[in-house]
Amino acid sequence: MQIKRLRLSGFKSFVDPAELRIEPGLTGIVGPNGCGKSNLLEALRWTMGENSAKSMRGAGMEDVIFAGTATRPQRDFAEVSILAEQAGDEELEVVRRIERGAGSAYRINGRDVRAKDVALLFADSATGAHSPALVSQGRIGAIIMAKPGERRAMLEEAAGISGLHVRRKDAEQK
Ligand code: ATP
Ligand code: MG
Repeated sequence: MQIKRLRLSGFKSFVDPAELRIEPGLTGIVGPNGCGKSNLLEALRWTMGENSAKSMRGAGMEDVIFAGTATRPQRDFAEVSILAEQAGDEELEVVRRIERGAGSAYRINGRDVRAKDVALLFADSATGAHSPALVSQGRIGAIIMAKPGERRAMLEEAAGISGLHVRRKDAEQK
């Protein structure tokens, strides 16, 4: 799976609709402190199902919604879309939206889906909210300090077998 485009609206500092095309060869995003580089990475992980507010550097999940500045009022929702291409040229648009007081909702190609469907979709690829391909600020130190179990989870994710755990949990509940 290849992620081709990221669209944000009302997500953290990206109050106005913004679009990032991820072309082959893109290796980094540079910019001054506080311009939103980490927010972009968080938008990716959030849309892929990240549910830890702490890892989004917030106290609650609604903290991802634009909180307002001295000159602009806060927003009532945040929405991020990931456009991805799967093997065989099939395009896939995954959207996550959060509204104040109403929680999160997900869509895949315009259809309402469960959080679990999005988790399964990304769990089988090397992407995913906890993919080691997404190295957030401070993560290198965290990997060095990780407990053996946590390090195993990273290796499983890297080996592409963590989708099996999600499926097993799912099967055990049935
Ligand atoms: P650095 O180079 O220091 O790592 P960065 O480019 O990674 O900086 P980010 O951490 O992505 O910057 O962006 C931080 C900015 O996002 C801050 O100005 C912060 O106020 C803003 N921000 C974060 N959450 C929100 C929110 N909910 N509403 C408005 N602005 C927000
Ligand atoms: Mg940063």
